[in-house]
Amino acid sequence: MATKFGLPGKVYLIGAGPGSADLLTVRAATLLHHAEVVLHDDLVSPEVMQLIPASSMVQNVGKRCGKKGITQEQINERLVEFARQGRVVVRLKGGDPLIFGRAQEEIHALRDAGIDFEIVPGVTAAFAAAAAAKIPLTERRSASKLLFVSNHQCDQKVLRNWRANVVSDTTLVFYMPGQNFTELVDELRGGGLEAETPCLIVSNASRPEQEFVRTTLDKLADASFAPAPSLLIIGSMVSEFKTDGPRPEIRLEEVLTLDDERVTTLQKRSQASPDDEQFIEEDPLLSS
Ligand code: SAH
Repeated sequence: MATKFGLPGKVYLIGAGPGSADLLTVRAATLLHHAEVVLHDDLVSPEVMQLIPASSMVQNVGKRCGKKGITQEQINERLVEFARQGRVVVRLKGGDPLIFGRAQEEIHALRDAGIDFEIVPGVTAAFAAAAAAKIPLTERRSASKLLFVSNHQCDQKVLRNWRANVVSDTTLVFYMPGQNFTELVDELRGGGLEAETPCLIVSNASRPEQEFVRTTLDKLADASFAPAPSLLIIGSMVSEFKTDGPRPEIRLEEVLTLDDERVTTLQKRSQASPDDEQFIEEDPLLSS
């Protein structure tokens, strides 16, 4: 089916990054300006939401575990339905869409329905948190492995065999760490991690509320409260963390006023009206 611009409907699974709008990819920002329908998660920051044109239809399809307002199946159906209406549909997910984002279910639904789709990567929370804390996640001598772990199981309690996984030269990054670390500490200590292993909780990475809690494994269960969304990093690389004051604020507006030809082009594109048929046709991002 064709859009009013003569293009078939298409779904873009876009990574919204960790929060700061200037951490969006240029492609994500450009596509957002052309979105006719946006289905977004709770994690997408207000700063990123502001980039969506007022003319777009916007639906929050965020669902917290245990309090499901909308099922995954309903989200899949909406994606297919809007695309069949010939619209440019953006599925906006926090961080990277392929990391702990239930992307596979949406990809299967789109494939089964024969809907064209594209995936635009985003900065995942682990990378934003490590950058905010100024700690490398790997180091050739002491941290040759990196493990991303979801610490939250919605449907079932999965037994985690830490003995097999935890080795001393691994940086562990826990997404959805929750606030109660007692069980996790027991598992990791049982898996052989030392009591003094450094731990860092990064709250609201890249956002104005960003904060850090630095501790060690034996004290993790008593660590001070860190507001969500937060990420827990455990491993020797955390010892590189230094508290060196707040991050300098460079906001997106300032970046876009830089005298740079490419930025000017982006501004021109973003200012183009969605009704400008010629502009849409010439836009290589939307012509595939
Ligand atoms: N797809 C996302 C992850 C979704 S799971 C990504 O790639 O980042 C949701 C979890 O991500 C949160 O519970 C939290 O652990 C983490 N998270 C997302 N944004 C964050 C942020 N700005 N700061 C810290 N953790 C964040």
